[in-house]
Amino acid sequence: MISEKMKPYVQNNSAIRMMFEEGNRLRAKYGADKVFDFSLGNPSVPAPDSVREAIIEITNNTDPTVLHGYMSNAGFEDVRQTIAESLNRRFDTKFAAKNLIMTVGAASGLNVILKTILNPGEEVIVFAPYFLEYGAYVRNYDGVLVEISPDTTTFQPNLAEFEQKITSKTRAVIVNTPHNPTGVVYSEETIKKLSAILEAKQKEFGTVIYLISDEPYRELVYDGVEVPYLTKYYDNTVVGYSYSKSLSLPGERIGYLVIPDEADGSAELITAATIANRTLGCVNAPSLIQKVVAKCVDAKTDVAAYDKNRLALYNGLTECGFECIKPQGAFYLFVKSPVADEKAFCEAGKKYNILMVPGSSFACPGYVRLAYCVSYDTIVNSLPEFKKLAAEYGL
Ligand code: PLP
Repeated sequence: MISEKMKPYVQNNSAIRMMFEEGNRLRAKYGADKVFDFSLGNPSVPAPDSVREAIIEITNNTDPTVLHGYMSNAGFEDVRQTIAESLNRRFDTKFAAKNLIMTVGAASGLNVILKTILNPGEEVIVFAPYFLEYGAYVRNYDGVLVEISPDTTTFQPNLAEFEQKITSKTRAVIVNTPHNPTGVVYSEETIKKLSAILEAKQKEFGTVIYLISDEPYRELVYDGVEVPYLTKYYDNTVVGYSYSKSLSLPGERIGYLVIPDEADGSAELITAATIANRTLGCVNAPSLIQKVVAKCVDAKTDVAAYDKNRLALYNGLTECGFECIKPQGAFYLFVKSPVADEKAFCEAGKKYNILMVPGSSFACPGYVRLAYCVSYDTIVNSLPEFKKLAAEYGL
């Protein structure tokens, strides 16, 4: 009954659902405090108080026909202007309201920009490991996903392979920094090299290649690490932002795209992306929460809580003998599986009620992802179990 295009997604979905159900089964059997579920990237830090206060204030003081009504498909003009000014203050950019399109989270923003720019058969490059949904988003518009293999020493993008895989059909490159699933932040040096490669390839092929910066984790960084703002390094950059993690609002579905004036065909892209927002069925981003994020434009999530978890889990696991790169951002740890078959390692973890996501879910087998957006107690209590798991592998 379902379309051919949907069939692989339905098959794949059962693996994710099984993991979710496994967590529920273990919690029902052993109690929630005995299960160490590191599988979900759902923020554990609540949204800042200012979000609740803004919801109350806005609903009390705004004309409901405006607040809950239709607006431009790009979103409320005042909201976009407020966010543009905040970006300009923080990153020394020159955006105006017209450069922003409010979207239904990052997922929707990526779909909007891909629908706007992709012709069937055109290629979109991604760097493994990567958020596997990118593949689905690219296929939504009959694009072709081109994977670059991982540099498992640094988890910075493998630029030598990147340079080789750019063709006359390359339409876009997606980067995600801070990065899911490794927590790595791409250095300024990496960004400069990547931009230089793109500039040279655009010239060589006489094409336009858009760099899509998927950055839902921008605010989640540790040890004072800087996350370069990519529009300043490469003109054909489109930024996809989300408040899902930065304000702990994943269920509210709110984010935005930035299409700078410097991008080739900027005005045409903005018009088309605004229409894509409508024709994809979103019409516009949810209205109340647009107003809320504008009011909370300078609000900060409790990064210190994630940092405490990061250090406890990283130190605990490395002391057990596990290998992993120390994350500089986001809330994930990407741990090398002690055996090549990381799915078997995930299975072994379940004996200790530890739930991890196999790296093959990010196109990077041999590793597992732990989401440390959990309670601190979960981390502390999981460490003796990780020790037993490590012992099984002679670590
Ligand atoms: N991109 C990456 C790398 C993510 O990890 C996620 C969510 O986990 C998304 C995009 C989607 O974010 P949103 O909830 O804003 O759609």
